[in-house]
Amino acid sequence: MSPAREGGEQRSANQGETSPLILFFKDKTMEYEISKIDEQTWVLSEGFVRFFLIAGKNEALLLDTGMNVGKALEAAKSLTSLPVRLMNTHADPDHIGGNKDFSEVLMHAAEEENYIQHGSGGGKNKILPVSDGEVIDLGERPMQIVWIPGHTPGSIGLLDIKRRYFFSGDTVQQGSEIYMFGPQRNITQFAASLEKIEKMSDKFDLIFACHGQLPVKPSVIPELLAGTKKVIAGEVEGQAREMFGTKIMACDVGCDVLLVGDIITYRRLTEADLDTFIQMRITQLREEGAKENFDLVPALKDYYKRHLLDGTFVSWLALDGNKIIGTSGMSFVEKPPYFGCPSGRIGLLSSMFTNPDYRRKGIAKELLHRVVEEARAYGCGAIQITASDMGVKLYTAYGFVHNGNFMQYKL
Ligand SMILES: [Zn+2]
Repeated sequence: MSPAREGGEQRSANQGETSPLILFFKDKTMEYEISKIDEQTWVLSEGFVRFFLIAGKNEALLLDTGMNVGKALEAAKSLTSLPVRLMNTHADPDHIGGNKDFSEVLMHAAEEENYIQHGSGGGKNKILPVSDGEVIDLGERPMQIVWIPGHTPGSIGLLDIKRRYFFSGDTVQQGSEIYMFGPQRNITQFAASLEKIEKMSDKFDLIFACHGQLPVKPSVIPELLAGTKKVIAGEVEGQAREMFGTKIMACDVGCDVLLVGDIITYRRLTEADLDTFIQMRITQLREEGAKENFDLVPALKDYYKRHLLDGTFVSWLALDGNKIIGTSGMSFVEKPPYFGCPSGRIGLLSSMFTNPDYRRKGIAKELLHRVVEEARAYGCGAIQITASDMGVKLYTAYGFVHNGNFMQYKL
């Protein structure tokens, strides 16, 4: 059944030597311009945003649902008679507009918060989590999930293994403006994800993005990656702009324009940072209610100096320019090995702090992740913390579990 085709305008466009033939026809009833990439792959365009219908022998996958000026599910059903499942590359509003017509949605678990914040596409779909590396076979058409966080925490790309296509969501685009400001965005993760995609670029010939040019050649990836690294390093002069009431910078990197807010970078604490680090630690302890009237600075300085030197204390910092806006700390201690921790090595988490102006941007989570990885590398079998109420949510989301109450004997 293809009522959409009747009365539609048809034209063909050959987008270059390596591009497939694309047929355009405007679907007047459902407000989409629908293009065919091949016999089993369609692009549905809705102004500046597009989404994809990918069919195998047994079922079809609708990758995103646009802004929903039209009816995404109905449009998909006009193109295939196979059962249609929904998957989201991520949950920004321009990708989930037609989700409400589905009862289930495949997405990365890390995207759930973003999805809920955007009203779950106006529906009540059950989230079926997918994970990095997982392969979904549509029937002689295996599709591999590639987790590419940064644009949003649970952004995914989809590798069409046999056809050598890569559906990149908003992560790889060309000739477009990539939104990297505001909550949920993390430009350092974005750069790491571009690196990940570049490493696997021998597996695909064409990239299909949700905005900008269609299709995109893999050669844009190193260009976008290099540009992103320059933006992070502060080497691209941006144009100030205001968007949705927020001051942002538009950074032209050639292939795209990155729209960025505060750029947060991460590095390990060094001895040169100690004065600032200690002041922040004391402010935090006071905020948590410490009333004792003596100077803790010399004792802290002595501790950090000794343990930075012998490697039994490590800290990652978050910075906005040169300003430290987030801290973390992990001390390594050794107990007689026990069955739950045969190495006897335990990481004690401390100094988790984010400047209030920078909260809800995923900074604490990123810092936590970095010190947890340090503990893993040190050979720790467990990490312990006595968490403040504010931290509990973060630690629980990360996978920490309550292990009774800590007890202490004071000497
Ligand atoms: Zn988008």
